[in-house]
Amino acid sequence: MQNSNEQYLNLLNFVRWVPKDQVDLPGKDTHSQALSKLEAIERTVEVCKMCSLHRTRANTVFGSGSASADWMFIGEAPGVEEDRRGVPFVGRAGQLLDSMIDSIGMNRKNVYVANVLKCRPPENRDPVGTEVGSCEGYLHNQIELIRPKLIISLGRFAAQSLLKTSLSIGKLRGELHSYSTFEIPLVATYHPAYLLRSPLEKRKVWRDLLLAKSVLT
Ligand code: URA
Repeated sequence: MQNSNEQYLNLLNFVRWVPKDQVDLPGKDTHSQALSKLEAIERTVEVCKMCSLHRTRANTVFGSGSASADWMFIGEAPGVEEDRRGVPFVGRAGQLLDSMIDSIGMNRKNVYVANVLKCRPPENRDPVGTEVGSCEGYLHNQIELIRPKLIISLGRFAAQSLLKTSLSIGKLRGELHSYSTFEIPLVATYHPAYLLRSPLEKRKVWRDLLLAKSVLT
């Protein structure tokens, strides 16, 4: 039964605003369904032995943030500090990621942060194909459940894995891409660890974040 206010808004063709976590979009889980499915996948990841990285990990690093986030940031793989604490981007690169998130008026609680790999490659070496093949389904499921409005990939490796391309990060950044069949807009930018070594490149990252913001407005 509609109240008179709703009838009036309908008459004017207004769509009533509903918080994102209360909307039940077709094909999309509600916030609480998504949350419990994410927790179930996280439990699976915690005991995953699909590649050899389980032998050297201290902890799995599933992801953190809001299950109904509009923005999703995706990096490569946990580093030493992330492996120790089981949380993504908590080392020095993580502090820079926090500043990037802050610069768009968001914080860690209202975005979602994850990696392509859920376990740390020893000595922070590049992930190999079999590790990505074993792990990328978890990330795909996370994206499917969260359905962010936008993905920011951090660094060459994440961009190439998500977009299934071998193009360089220099070629991939600066334009809008689309992630998989979900057609989620994706902006590729530099990895915060690279920015620690090349601080002048922060200007380009700022431009990438402006591009990303323009998608959501
Ligand atoms: N680098 C990444 O790509 N991910 C992390 O979680 C930390 C550092």
